Amino acid sequence: MSRWRQADSISDWLGRFHNPDLEARFSRHVRAESAAHVVTSGLVAAAMFAAFGLSDYALLGGDDPAMAGLITLRAIVVTAILALVMAVRRRPALVDRVWPVNAVIALGITAIILIVPLRPETIDTQAPAVMVSVIAVYLFFPNRTPWRLAQSLYLSAGFMLAAWLLAPVPAKAMTAYILLLILVNVVGLLTAMRLSRLRREQYATLLEEREVNDRLQSEIAARQHLESRLTRMVRTDELTGLNNRRRVQELAEQVLRLARREDSPVTVCMVDLDHFKSINDRFGHGAGDSVLVRVAECLREALRESDILGRFGGEEFMVVLPRTGLDEAGEMAERLRRAVSGLGEQDFGLPLRVTATLGLAELEPGERTIDPALNRADEALFEGKRQGRNRVLVARPSAARRQPAAE
Ligand code: GH3
Ligand code: MG
Ligand code: MG
Repeated sequence: MSRWRQADSISDWLGRFHNPDLEARFSRHVRAESAAHVVTSGLVAAAMFAAFGLSDYALLGGDDPAMAGLITLRAIVVTAILALVMAVRRRPALVDRVWPVNAVIALGITAIILIVPLRPETIDTQAPAVMVSVIAVYLFFPNRTPWRLAQSLYLSAGFMLAAWLLAPVPAKAMTAYILLLILVNVVGLLTAMRLSRLRREQYATLLEEREVNDRLQSEIAARQHLESRLTRMVRTDELTGLNNRRRVQELAEQVLRLARREDSPVTVCMVDLDHFKSINDRFGHGAGDSVLVRVAECLREALRESDILGRFGGEEFMVVLPRTGLDEAGEMAERLRRAVSGLGEQDFGLPLRVTATLGLAELEPGERTIDPALNRADEALFEGKRQGRNRVLVARPSAARRQPAAE
């Protein structure tokens, strides 16, 4: 069972949660509803009080001296109720206060009791009206349970006392009134307690659902975060943040599909830093790492948005150039070579320069992966190393390229 819904978290006697913060939250939650409840109940009670003025008139006639007292009494109660209704409409928070509602209820009860000496001969019709009023005090107005009980006891005891002292009630009828009033009070109190508990249990269930929902949401968010981190880790090279070899292959597949559809050229480029080992040897592995990071940035800046750059491994990078033939790719590679060799102390924070040798190869018809072209680019690169490094070498198209094979 959740912390909200423990059976002992609600006091039946006080008609509230034991936890004051929780009770305050509950009150705020039901405030608008309670205010509407007070307005409706108030208007009905005011209308009833006014309407019973007609029965006063029918019974007593306009000349009876008690009539003025009755009219005044009813006018005071109706005015007080309407004032409460208007005040609650303007400030619904008033329903959370004990006094406004209880003062008006106490006034109404006092009026009901005072009607006894003003119309003592109609006590047998007043008695059922009092029973209904007791139920109304328990159930009709939003109120705390002890207050409902106190008001109902005030009404019951006050009415019985007035009836006993001021009205001609036979002893037998008196006993019946007392028993009926006890019954009505017990039923009213138990029902009010039950309703008060049910509403709080309902609210506790709502809180519980919200809590479960929130937990679920944050669990989902955490999983999504983890998933995207894992995806990033699987796809990227940790040191440089570039695509790793596998990711370049994946992206290249899309490029190849597009190229086949539009019969456009694709060129791949291998980039290998020259004498990189000596950088490690002279400045340390950490410095070598920083150089790799800076070179990666430099390559990314020099390339177009649509080009796919990745780290092939070690001090080697790979580029897939969509919609690019060998001539244009040659210019692009030359630009990359110059960009890398232009890096210096201001970029590395160390007195060193770095150059790169690049090998280029265009994809040939029928090739469904970039691997054969990468091999050719690598061979061209090796030739570039042999020729003295810091240069771009192009793998010339094979015979297959010059005489396109039917797919
Ligand atoms: P060449 O011009 O023939 O390419 O010479 P090279 O020294 O660049 O090539 P070689 O293959 O002999 O050495 C590559 C070096 O790159 C060796 C290795 O220590 C270094 N290296 C590979 N990966 C990393 C890395 O992640 N960080 C650092 N700092 N060094 C690396
Ligand atoms: Mg190498
Ligand atoms: Mg190298």
